[in-house]
Amino acid sequence: MMKIYYDKDVNSSVLDGKTIAVIGYGSQGYAQANCIKDSGLNIVMGLRMGGKSWERANRDRFPVFPIPDAVKKSDVVMMLVPDTVQPSLYKDQISPYLKPGKTLVFAHGFNIHFKTIVPPTNVDIIMVAPKAPGPSLRELYLNQFGVPALIAIHQDYTGKAKQTALSIAKALGSTKAGVIETTFKDETESDLIGEQIVLVGGIIELLKKGFEVLVELGYPPELAYFETCNEIKLIVDQIYHAGVIGMLRAVSDTAKYGGMTIGPKVIDARVKNNMKNVAKNVQSGEFAKKWLKEDANGRPIFNVLMKQWQEHQLETVGKSIRSMSGIEKEK
Ligand code: NAD
Ligand code: MG
Repeated sequence: MMKIYYDKDVNSSVLDGKTIAVIGYGSQGYAQANCIKDSGLNIVMGLRMGGKSWERANRDRFPVFPIPDAVKKSDVVMMLVPDTVQPSLYKDQISPYLKPGKTLVFAHGFNIHFKTIVPPTNVDIIMVAPKAPGPSLRELYLNQFGVPALIAIHQDYTGKAKQTALSIAKALGSTKAGVIETTFKDETESDLIGEQIVLVGGIIELLKKGFEVLVELGYPPELAYFETCNEIKLIVDQIYHAGVIGMLRAVSDTAKYGGMTIGPKVIDARVKNNMKNVAKNVQSGEFAKKWLKEDANGRPIFNVLMKQWQEHQLETVGKSIRSMSGIEKEK
């Protein structure tokens, strides 16, 4: 079995007297910066002057600086801006100030693995990748627990890269849940494959097609929403706490029999084959190339698809149900 790191395996003294700069205050930036601050480490924020994040981080009582100043003031720099923004931001605002012996931390291996960022050899390049969306990371931390994380070492110039990665993971609460060591390649590829075939792509398409089938058969959309979208959370919660067997124990025998016999007819060998093709496309770098080009061209496909999702009946019906029941609060 793989070694799993917990709180007791971490010697946080590598970060004694060190300053951590968090660059970006979005989904991960907000969650990670607040956890690191609450864990008592020395933190500064590096943000765009006058931007929305700048105001928000100021309100949240962080010392906020323009990105180059935050990099100059710190020993550890955490790159928490979108992956597509990282290459140019690194080149213009980070690399000129990344002195020998500093540590650059990524939350996803994308730019190092696909070589869109090539750092000098005299710095530590590490990854601390929490396996959860930012808001869940923060919520579990506040509940005195954490989300699991992956760490990886791409360059260990100081000889302390692994303890630095573990110490940051501990500050995020992740060593309470468990941390495993991997490589930038494995994290990047498995993260992209996982989000495409299961976590994001697989789930939203499964929900959409399931919802559409029920509605096309004449069942009310509200009923279809409860049956697919709402209940999936409760089923997944059961799996999260007690595994697939735990979930199966919690549903009726009719649901067990129907689920186990019919499931493989729905998600059949063709679907598995599609998943393998998706994986190949990620491993070859084709997906990364296509996404960076789409982003550079102003995201024409991305924007159309987001709009289609916003307008889909699953979303419009779901939104009114969630706001009437109080599940979704108005922002
Ligand atoms: P995000 O889109 O939420 O981050 C946006 C923030 O980046 C903004 O709030 C702003 O502070 C900053 N920003 C955006 N454009 C900028 C620019 N041009 N110049 C300077 N600052 C800019 O990003 P995220 O989803 O938190 O992702 C950050 C990193 O974390 C990525 O490497 C991502 O792969 C990784 N990650 C994300 C998640 C997740 O749940 N979202 C999970 C694990 C890892
Ligand atoms: Mg991902």
